[in-house]
Order: sequence, then C-alpha cells, then structure tokens
Amino acid sequence: MNFRENIQYIKGVGPKKAQALKKIGIGNIYNLLTYYPKRYSDQSEITAINAIEPDATVNIKGSILNVQEKTSHRGMKIITVILHDGTGTTQVIWFNQPFLKRSLKPGMSLFVRGKTGYAYNGYGQLCIKQVISYFLLDDTNNNQCQFLPLYTLPDMIKPKFYRSVLENVLSTLDNIPCALDRSIIAAYHLLSKTDALRKIHFPQTKNDIKESREMLIFEELFMIQCGLIYMRKINSQNKQGIRCLPNSNLVKKIYKALPFKLTDDQEKVWNEICLDMQSTRPMQRLLQGDVGSGKTVIAVMALVKAVENGWQGALMAPTEVLAKQHFDNFNKLLNPFGIKVGLLIGSLSAKEHNEALQYIKNGEWQIIIGTHALIQDKVQFAKLGLVITDEQHRFGVAQRARLETKAEQTPDVLVMTATPIPRTMTLTVYGDLDVSVIHQLPPGRKNIRTFLRTKNAREKVYQFVLAQIKAGRQAYVVCPLIELSENVGAASAEAIFEELRTGIFKDVNCALLHGKLSAKEKGKIMQDFFTNKVNLLISTTVIEVGVNVPNASIMVVEGAERFGLAQLHQLRGRVGRGSYKSYCILLSDSKSSKTKERLSLMEKISDGFVLAEADLRLRGPGQFFGAMQHGLPDLKIADVLNDTDILLAARKEAEKWCVKKKSMREIIETINLQYEDNFFKITDV
Ligand code: ADP
Ligand code: MG
Repeated sequence: MNFRENIQYIKGVGPKKAQALKKIGIGNIYNLLTYYPKRYSDQSEITAINAIEPDATVNIKGSILNVQEKTSHRGMKIITVILHDGTGTTQVIWFNQPFLKRSLKPGMSLFVRGKTGYAYNGYGQLCIKQVISYFLLDDTNNNQCQFLPLYTLPDMIKPKFYRSVLENVLSTLDNIPCALDRSIIAAYHLLSKTDALRKIHFPQTKNDIKESREMLIFEELFMIQCGLIYMRKINSQNKQGIRCLPNSNLVKKIYKALPFKLTDDQEKVWNEICLDMQSTRPMQRLLQGDVGSGKTVIAVMALVKAVENGWQGALMAPTEVLAKQHFDNFNKLLNPFGIKVGLLIGSLSAKEHNEALQYIKNGEWQIIIGTHALIQDKVQFAKLGLVITDEQHRFGVAQRARLETKAEQTPDVLVMTATPIPRTMTLTVYGDLDVSVIHQLPPGRKNIRTFLRTKNAREKVYQFVLAQIKAGRQAYVVCPLIELSENVGAASAEAIFEELRTGIFKDVNCALLHGKLSAKEKGKIMQDFFTNKVNLLISTTVIEVGVNVPNASIMVVEGAERFGLAQLHQLRGRVGRGSYKSYCILLSDSKSSKTKERLSLMEKISDGFVLAEADLRLRGPGQFFGAMQHGLPDLKIADVLNDTDILLAARKEAEKWCVKKKSMREIIETINLQYEDNFFKITDV
C-alpha cells in the first residue's frame, strides 16, 4: 500500500471530493487513516420499543416483521420496516433508498439508531423518522459498530460515504510504517498500529477505544521526542563546539560586583551553564523562569564568560524597549570593567547603524544587545561564541537558528523564556534543548495582590492608584486597543489616556505608550518612566515583556477579559519587582461566567506554572504548539496535559532508541509520513 497516494484515486472519491478533503488536511491515504474520530456516538444502549419517546435519539434492536415500499404523492420512494423486539412494534422509515427492499427481509435482525417522531402516514404513530445508522445483526457481528465514529467533515462529504471509504482502506491495510519497534509494543502491551487504526475508527467496545488511543498517543509523542532528539544530535554532531575555560578573574570580579547575592536556583543554573560552556559540546539550553525570577543576571554572567574567553556574545530581545533596557543595565555593570557593550536596533540612524555594523564586525564590541535587527544579512560578527534569546516565546525557532548561523564555529546557545508552561510540557515543546528552571523568586518579593473588579469600582480603583502615586510609587494602566473601534466596546488607550490625564490624574505626569509610536518616541517615554519623570504610564501590551521598573507597584488592566491568562500573568509581572507591596487590578464587565471563572484564577494563583496549567485546562488541549510558536503542527491525538505518563515513557524510549543508528530509519520514515516531510524543517533558516 502506498500511503502517500493521493486520496483522489481511492474508489468513489474523485477530484471534487478529494479537494474538499484536502481542505481538512486529508490529502493522502496516511492522512485519511490518521484523521481520528472527534467522538463516538454510543450505540450500546438499547431502548425497548415500548419505551420509545418522541423527539429522542434512540438505538433499537429487533426482528423485521414486514418491509413495505410506497411512493409518496411527490414521487419519493419510502421504505417502511416494521420492527418487533418482544416489548412492542414500531416503524422505521427510510426515504429514497429503494435498494433497501432487497437487503432487508422479514425475519432478519436489525439494529437502528435514529430520531423518533410521529409518522406522517395518516396514523400518526410514534416511529423512527430519521435513521442515523443501521446494520443487520447476525451471529458473527452481533456487536458490530456499537460505537459510531463521528468526524468533522466538509458538507459535501457524507459521513456514511466517508466511513465506507475508510472501511475500504482499512480492510486492505498492510505494512503501515510504525515508529514503535516491536519490543516497545510488547513492553508496554500496546496494540499493533494496524489494529490500533482499525479499532480507533471502528471500535467494538469501549476498551477498543482506550487501547487504540493509548497506542496512537504513545506513537505520536514518541515520534515528536525522537524527532527533536535526533535533530539536536544532528545539529551538534560533527560540529565542534567552542570550549571555555573555568571561570577566571573577570567572571569572578563581576560576580562579586553584582548588587545582590544569587538565589540558590540562580546559582544552580549558573553552574549548569558554566559546565555547558566549558564542554566542547555546543550548549543548547533553555532557561525557564517565571517573570521576575532573575534570568537577566544569568545572561549577563554567561556573556561575560564568553568575553573572558575571547568570544563575542549576542543577546536578542523581542522589543526595542527591552533591548534598550538590557543595554543600559549591562553597560552600568560592565563598563567599569572595560567590557564594550553595543546596541543594534532598527531605530538607529543610518550613521549609527553603520558604525554598529563596523564594531560588530571588527570585534570592538564584545557584547551586542539587539532586536531582530541582529539577524539581518548585513550583520557580521568577528567572533560570535554565545547566542542568547530573551523571551524566546516571542520568536520562532527559525529566528533563533538564524542568529546561530552568524557564527563560524557552532556557538553556545541559551534560550530564556518566562512562558510558564507545565514542566512535562517543556519536554514536548522544547524537547531539543536541555532545560534549567528557576523556581524561586529573589528574596523580599511580595506577592502581587490581584483583584477582579467591574466598572462600578473603577472610580475607587483609580483613587487607590492616585494614593499610591502620591506615596511615591508609579503605576501602569494597560488597555487592549489603540483606537476606539466601533464594533468592539473595548477600552482604547488613547481615550483612556485623555480621560485620566484630564480627570483624576490631572496633577500627575501621565504618558501614553503604544505600538504606533516610533521607536524613538517609545524609547523616550520608557526613559522618562525609568527615571520617574512619568508617574502613570498608560499603554497597550508593548510593556508586556521584560520591562523592569522596581518603583512601579500598581497595575490596572482595562478590559481584562480580552487578554489570555498567560499574557495577564506576564503583564502583572511588571509590578512587584521592588520591595513595595504591589497590586494588579483587573477591570472587566464581562457577563460570561466562563470568563469570570478564568479571570478569577488570577486572583487565586500567583505561580505562573500552576496558572498556565489551569489556563490550558480551561482552553482545552490541541492548540498547544501553535500557541508556543514552535512551528510544529498541533497534536493529532495526544493531550499534553493528561497524557503525561505516556509522554514520560515515550521520552524515555526515544532517548534509548535515538542512539541506535539502524532503528532510526523506520522512525524517520514514519515521522515524515505523519508530518508531511515538514518536521525536520522546523529549524531551517
Ligand atoms: P526576569 O526573569 O523576568 O527576566 P529579571 O532578570 O528582570 O527577571 O529580574 C527581576 C528583578 O529582580 C530585577 O530587578 C533584578 O535586578 C532582580 N534580581 C534578580 N536576581 C536577584 C537576586 N538574586 N536577589 C535580588 N534581586 C534580584
Ligand atoms: Mg526578563
């Protein structure tokens, strides 16, 4: 069987239907087999005929007493079957299927699932008016199709037709590539892939569904793990990484000059990074830590270590505001030690930009902080040895890879993210990286007290903000949209800015920050906020990532229902960065109880990991990879939240199998089938 064969050539499909199927991702036979039922309609519960009620969906079983064919006055052929089950008799009615006359005969046993109602035939009897499915019962297939698979299909593809195509393909299924070796199948008591596919589409029992799912989930997670591990192996194989020496003078001096003592978690992570950098294997590490956990200082230390060993280090941040902030902080700390830090962002003047390129190329700048501007073709490094991306979730994998190619020798790579995803999930998403986690927040952090309020309380909320500002603190107001748009009643940053600036905050220095400002204007406003010239910053989500102003202690989020929980958590992380008691107030007038439930999680949960998990549970699985911008397609069957045990087992096996050269062939073949040859392209530049 050629699993890549176009679906069009299957009997009965043809070009038109093939086109419709292609739209839902079914282009070839393998796609068809791995397009799983969305759910099943359980036909195992049988209703006694004398217990049928109108307007219900029921399953009945009985023997055929009589089959009649009639033609309605509109010319429609009607087949009526009288069915008897010992408790009573009823009619089952089919329209326009005259051929049934040949297959349904008195004396046969029949299963029917359908909608009940009163017949139009003059007697007004309760009958099965609309048949959903039916089949003949005989001794051999007594239980056949108790669970009817239901798929999401385009209009022109009728479920019954679709199932018949599937049945057809499944009946001749042979030698389907499977990523799981026989020994894994045996060790975990899994079904064979052929059996799993047959049973997931046409289960006879509940157990069939369970077992087939188990096998297919295991295989799916195994493939992802193998793919990621394999890719990482290829990436680092043959590639000689650079080797740094153990920490010496410069690193030690700067470590001592830090304005604080590292937390135990930071210390642990720093050690892991040192070992990575001192090995010839290129570092490929993810540093995960909740907002405010202190990832930046780790980046600084790693950059200094690269410099100490004669390399350049680059740090890429998602916004200019953030890049500028890092640049200022790094300079303050590192300048006294003679380390040259440079900034490359889009808003530099042409002259500054050219100079920057010069300094990067001739090695004058040892540490370069930048935005996407860093990955432009023109940028050439003298001796790039360490690449760090801050807030990796804002970049694609490809962008990270692109920066890495700027180095002649495979550089060390550190990826930082505050996207708090449940621990086991990092395996799936960042399976190609080693993972370090900072769990602890620096000492002295106060919990950010979070409140959900309606517009009724708005006046009071802003009075409270004013009191905070009068006490010397600074505040953020975050708004979902820049301009008033007629169709959504969301707050507009501009309108709110006007309202607040001229109203309750008329004696306070307010500023408005949004994405439509030029980078220069944004930079100026942020500068004024850093230096406390601006006390109240009204903004859109441009402040979402990384901004660090310890004196800011309160944040109001207007139209909070418009933000995702992960985003709200990131936003909230802008306050509570100093020693002041901090507050986050979510304003929302949403009437939806689901929204209220979601937002109230923010009041109860302060741990980003726990929050992310709760959020995913509310949103449901599926869109996970998309949300992570990882470039991987979504999962077909596994659910990363609930299939954790299988994930861990699959990971373990993947690690074992990926070292065996011979076994990779079939695994890769299956991965290529499953991901249409795209999997190994996810890090392509
Ligand atoms: P994030 O992990 O969100 O990037 P930052 O690196 O911006 O967090 O750190 C947040 C704040 O915590 C900064 O003001 C930083 O100076 C401070 N900080 C980091 N580590 C420590 C520490 N060990 N002790 C005290 N303050 C720290
Ligand atoms: Mg940060």
